[in-house]
Amino acid sequence: MDTVVSLADLKSAVHHWKRQGLSIALVPTMGNLHAGHYALIKAARDHADRVVATVFVNPTQFGEGEDFESYPRTLEADQRGLADHGCDLLYAPPVEDMYPSEPPRATVHVPVVSDGLCGARRPGHFDGVATVVLKLLNRVLPDCALFGEKDYQQLMVLRKMVADLDVPTDVIGVPTVRESDGLAMSSRNQYLTPAERRVAGSLHAALERCVLAIKSGRSVDKSIDAEKKKLARNGFRVDYFELRRASDLAPISRAAQENVLLVAARLGSARLIDNMRFKCEPDTDA
Ligand code: AMP
Repeated sequence: MDTVVSLADLKSAVHHWKRQGLSIALVPTMGNLHAGHYALIKAARDHADRVVATVFVNPTQFGEGEDFESYPRTLEADQRGLADHGCDLLYAPPVEDMYPSEPPRATVHVPVVSDGLCGARRPGHFDGVATVVLKLLNRVLPDCALFGEKDYQQLMVLRKMVADLDVPTDVIGVPTVRESDGLAMSSRNQYLTPAERRVAGSLHAALERCVLAIKSGRSVDKSIDAEKKKLARNGFRVDYFELRRASDLAPISRAAQENVLLVAARLGSARLIDNMRFKCEPDTDA
């Protein structure tokens, strides 16, 4: 696997493959890779002839006081892991190459799906994500790009961006990879102390119980309230715990056919997010 840092080297590798008629999959990441990221690489290999991963800690998607400076940067380990998992090319540009012009710059805002949930708690976050992903899509010109369902709102933002702006790339969602206790894998899990790590799996358990309660006919509000209280008892500070329509994240007060329950909570210095999609029979909806 080659690593390139300059746009010229990226373009020459990509042009070489395109001249041979090979298809390309893109997997954007911020590095510090784990099994969740490698599941995206594996899925990418099933969708295209060549896989390009990017490692770029994107400053424009971090808010003031967030962890941009301290975000774990482990490029050498990431290179080894990507090579082992069959990635063909790593693009790891410096910040000044991704943003060569002085601000203010053009940015992408994807309305409505960017609002609420993480968008409300992290103002500007999804504009930063959408903008950097569009730039990466324009630089790599991939046939498809793969994103984790762990970041469900992000996936919805990027799907809408690609659809609304006629970006000729298929967006593919990949199921969340979890630790054995259900905790969604995340680079930020390492901010947890051992004691916090022992209770962190209860976030996923809360989603599972809540889905069961809603499917059994208990009211959405009561089901969510009960789980929020349990999380608070375990030391979580819940940012949000909400039921949304899975197709477009529209707020709903009763389960629809395709639903997603989304949660974000702080545990110590870590902010954890997770979600669970579920279906309800149409008569439950009545
Ligand atoms: P990040 O490096 O955190 O920006 O994540 C890069 C990509 O990996 C995003 O599309 C994430 O949704 C995805 N990802 C992160 N963690 C997981 C996970 N546990 N399972 C599946 N995908 C993940």
